[in-house]
Amino acid sequence: MSDSQDGSAGGNGFHPAALTAQVDPALRRREMVERQLRRRGIRDERVLAAMLSVPRHEFIPPEFANEAYSDRPLPIGHGQTISQPFMVAAMAEAPGLSGDERVLEIGTGCGYQAAVLSLLVREVHTVEMYEDLAVDSRERLRRLGYGNVQVHVGDGTLGWPDEAPFEAIIVTAAAPDIPPPLAAQLAEGGLLILPVGTPDEQRLLRVQKHGSALSKRALYHCRFVPLVGQYGWKPKSG
Ligand code: SAH
Repeated sequence: MSDSQDGSAGGNGFHPAALTAQVDPALRRREMVERQLRRRGIRDERVLAAMLSVPRHEFIPPEFANEAYSDRPLPIGHGQTISQPFMVAAMAEAPGLSGDERVLEIGTGCGYQAAVLSLLVREVHTVEMYEDLAVDSRERLRRLGYGNVQVHVGDGTLGWPDEAPFEAIIVTAAAPDIPPPLAAQLAEGGLLILPVGTPDEQRLLRVQKHGSALSKRALYHCRFVPLVGQYGWKPKSG
């Protein structure tokens, strides 16, 4: 089948955008899981099942609904983005979660990564600095039935000491370095997954706590929005 040169819908009412909108989201998720995740090396069947189950289109602004399952990050307001599906899956897979953990996420955004994590662990705490994003995500997660997620408002570079220690901490914004409070709030043997580098380019690190020492392994190259706050980047003025 060739593309129509004039791009018109013709007389039969066929229009590619209309078609995309009509495709069953469950079908689009299946395609996403096969093409973007399994084919690129995500192996953890629990992670793949969670990505198949969470309705990503419910987490993004309606004007991007048609793009919900495409292979890229999408805007969610305040200049922030929901990560590309592959990166969400890679971050969920990296700590090797088995089901009984308590996990801290820094950077709730629209709540999508928190929803995926909630299917993999006992309890998720997630911290967002923008109150309106946190309020919307709290409401959305409740409506969609993700009952084991608690959304907090604050500077996530300070972690969430009231609920520490955590078996895993996942940071979904780019840090200049490892924020010391996050390392301190890891359980013994716990894993911290975070992008570290410059505002333009980072490596996703897997950091494990052994007593007072940390071992680090670099995973993927990546590009996240900046982590701002006391142990992050300074917020842009103006
Ligand atoms: N995990 C999110 C992606 C969020 S993008 C999702 O699934 O949608 C990164 C988020 O980190 C943004 O919402 C941004 O506001 C938030 N953020 C940046 N610095 C922060 C900080 N110090 N504390 C808490 N949240 C922060």
